[in-house]
Amino acid sequence: MTDLYRRESKSVSNMAQLRFFPQAVVGGKGSYLRGDDGRQLLDFSASWGAASLGHAHPSVREAITRAFSDQAGASYLSSANEPSVLLAEKLLSLVPPRSRGRVWLGHSGSDANETVARMVVAATGRRRILAFKGAYHGGTSGSMAVSGHPALKGVEKFGGLILVPYPNSYAAGDPTAASAAALSHLEEVFSADVRPEEVAAFFIEPIQGDGGLLVPPVGFFAEIERFCRQHGILLVCDEVKFGLARTGLLHAFEHSGIEPDIVVFGKGLGGGLPISAVVGPEPIMNHSPTFSYQTLHGNPICASAALAVLETIEKDGLVRNSADIGSYMLASLSKRSRDWDLVGDVRGKGLAIGIELVGDRVSRAPAKIQTALTVYRAFQLGLVMYYVGSNSNVLELTPPLILSTSEADEGVSIIGQALQDVAAGKVSPDLISSFAGW
Ligand SMILES: *Cc1c(COP(=O)(O)O)cnc(C)c1O
Repeated sequence: MTDLYRRESKSVSNMAQLRFFPQAVVGGKGSYLRGDDGRQLLDFSASWGAASLGHAHPSVREAITRAFSDQAGASYLSSANEPSVLLAEKLLSLVPPRSRGRVWLGHSGSDANETVARMVVAATGRRRILAFKGAYHGGTSGSMAVSGHPALKGVEKFGGLILVPYPNSYAAGDPTAASAAALSHLEEVFSADVRPEEVAAFFIEPIQGDGGLLVPPVGFFAEIERFCRQHGILLVCDEVKFGLARTGLLHAFEHSGIEPDIVVFGKGLGGGLPISAVVGPEPIMNHSPTFSYQTLHGNPICASAALAVLETIEKDGLVRNSADIGSYMLASLSKRSRDWDLVGDVRGKGLAIGIELVGDRVSRAPAKIQTALTVYRAFQLGLVMYYVGSNSNVLELTPPLILSTSEADEGVSIIGQALQDVAAGKVSPDLISSFAGW
């Protein structure tokens, strides 16, 4: 254990910690972080996708330096500032017509989803919200209250919340069956005493992230969209983790060919700075002033960083890079995984890839401990990645969108080595005893 990590444990609260190994970083550039022991670590998480352009990207650095050297205040609460307006205009140009109305800016996916949850109820007068089991929409009371992730068990839910199953093609053994089961469950909910007309909004992750990197069956969300339209339910796409080029398209919802009413952005939007955005129809977004605000919302430095991220995605063709490097990596992992006994499934879109680890490929029983050991071993070998999943058994890869082919190769080879070392019993379970993960 390095000294920085030890000092942290003596000074910093553990309430915000979700740790998998004793990582302490002192710097980073591009796809690499530098540990306080001097090691270069290839970053296949990018801080859960937040460092979307990698570390210390020159265009973000220039944008925030410029914004801070002639600082237009710190907030859009009580004055307009240009970076916020430019960012709002840019975001409006990127979403489909249905949601092209007004933009709200926040700090995080959590405050954005919390705002949406309050807003849809207030604006429609409907008192129920639909969301998926396994869904992670945030870590504040209001966003946890509409989340279905098991890590948030015991947290008080929104009174009108209805959680329905997200289709899991791998668990069901077949996407068509997974889709049919999830849709029939949804139907059942409304065959009892609940009416769809009581539902204000349906929160969806177009690809479910923390629930296990679940890619929905083809056509599933088109059915959900049809259901929402039929009953006047607002379709809210949580693009916080997988939006903005991550999946090889600009928006993750484009894979399903759907048009959301409301789009939520976060994580990678700021390229490493804290900023989130909600984009939706004018009557809903403007339903009431002073409804959801924090002092530093619309911060011009963060808005400038976000603008630089969006411009760089366009200018440097990062949607294309995500699609190309992502499908290259997915193919490479799928091919090599035949030799990795722990791997049950490899799936994803673009640079959002999940590797599900199982006890054996017949029972598909989650290999939870081996998953924690694999991320620990990969860290020892020089790769940062974490795991997700309602059963804590899915390695999640969300590397910087600038990832190169050789970096992809390097990461895949470390993952292979880590999986083989764990399968061979070379990694002691004692190593992870102080890392609870999630
Ligand atoms: C991470 C995440 C959030 C919450 O974002 P924070 O920045 O942690 O507040 C919301 N939705 C999804 C899909 C996420 O992955």
